[in-house]
Amino acid sequence: MRDETEANRTGQRTAEALLRWYDQSARVLPWRIGPADSVRGVQADPYRVWLSEVMLQQTTVAAVKDYFHRFTKRWPTVEALAAAPDAVVMAEWAGLGYYARARNLLACARVVVAEGGFPTEREALRKLPGIGAYTSAAIAAIVWDRPETVVDGNVERVVSRLFAVTDPLPKSKPKLAKLAEILTPQQRPGDFAQAMMDLGATVCTPRNPKCGNCPLAGFCVANAQDIAATLPAKTPKAVKPTRRGVAYVALREDGAPLLETRPPRGLLGGMQGWPGTEWSGAPEPAPPIVADWRHLPGTVRHTFTHFHLELTVAVAQVADVASPEDSAFHTEFNPGDLPTVMRKVWDHAQTGDLFDPQPAR
Ligand code: SF4
Repeated sequence: MRDETEANRTGQRTAEALLRWYDQSARVLPWRIGPADSVRGVQADPYRVWLSEVMLQQTTVAAVKDYFHRFTKRWPTVEALAAAPDAVVMAEWAGLGYYARARNLLACARVVVAEGGFPTEREALRKLPGIGAYTSAAIAAIVWDRPETVVDGNVERVVSRLFAVTDPLPKSKPKLAKLAEILTPQQRPGDFAQAMMDLGATVCTPRNPKCGNCPLAGFCVANAQDIAATLPAKTPKAVKPTRRGVAYVALREDGAPLLETRPPRGLLGGMQGWPGTEWSGAPEPAPPIVADWRHLPGTVRHTFTHFHLELTVAVAQVADVASPEDSAFHTEFNPGDLPTVMRKVWDHAQTGDLFDPQPAR
């Protein structure tokens, strides 16, 4: 790896080369001010930048674009979002995953409105619900052009290659952050942050980096050593455990499904879903109501951050019975409002003859 002095020397030239490339090649994104407007002093909308950054945590631009359009059409300002009912926002978020982010999104919108707008400094931004080191730096740099260093997975990859850092992640994170800081210019730090993101997404990609088309090829040690595709090195991940459970899909005779509202804290907190057992190694049966439950063949598989889940699905048709606590039969039911794993359960339930016109009584 080059030493810090050399990194300092090349940092400025590297940033200049990257910004020249960005001026020609910036991605057009719905929350972004393009480089020509940015240079003219047009400021990005903090609401749109914040919303996009929260949505983009752990997700790709392609997956986020439709959600972003729907959110900003329905709630064009942070004030509008702050005034929205929780359940409506959670339903609109369904499918994006990591539902704690949706709850924090609302909490943050309400604090921002109560305090009269988004703060302009990173430290103040960081005190808001759901805004951590990365998002606070991104908003401060992109919206307010503060010389903050924005480090996400893309940036770690680019920096590890530029300086040929062979120490594995996550141990190398502090070193990569320090090197990224050395690269960050005082002029146009917001454009620089977005240029790094764009380079990582389109040129310095995880597999098959396009070094032949890279504006930084002449500064890049990994390119010179022909080891780019091997970086960043990673400590092997621990094998994820598999948990199992049963999801119960009950339909009333008018077709209304029984859904529960999950507890506000924890996995899928506050979202609607099918009643079910614990998710564990050996779950005990826990049907929500007495019915003639039929267990369908096959399983629904879903992977969360820390474990794989295998659910069997039990289905039943029921008469007009009372629903258990925290559950209700929904005459207005849209499977698209469910989180992904629950939507998979619904899809699997369709493989059984759930819509048998002779309900069990
Ligand atoms: Fe990445 Fe290759 Fe560019 Fe180096 S030269 S920054 S490895 S794309």
